[in-house]
Amino acid sequence: MEFKKCVRCGSFFLSNNVVCPKCLPKDRCDISKLTNYINDNNITNSTITNLSQNTGITLKNINRYINSDVIPKINL
Ligand SMILES: [Zn+2]
Repeated sequence: MEFKKCVRCGSFFLSNNVVCPKCLPKDRCDISKLTNYINDNNITNSTITNLSQNTGITLKNINRYINSDVIPKINL
């Protein structure tokens, strides 16, 4: 385990995750919101800006979810 700085709130924590235990539920919530949005609307093409505007999730977090393959793949 490493001492890390949370990418969401900036607090230090000890874990293998990139977010602290406090932010983990927020991350899960964002991921399911994003996944539902993509699936419910059958989205195959979009932009990160569009996803952010429609879900209220920050560009930074969306980029992170895309890079870590935790949301459905779409053409961006
Ligand atoms: Zn945090």
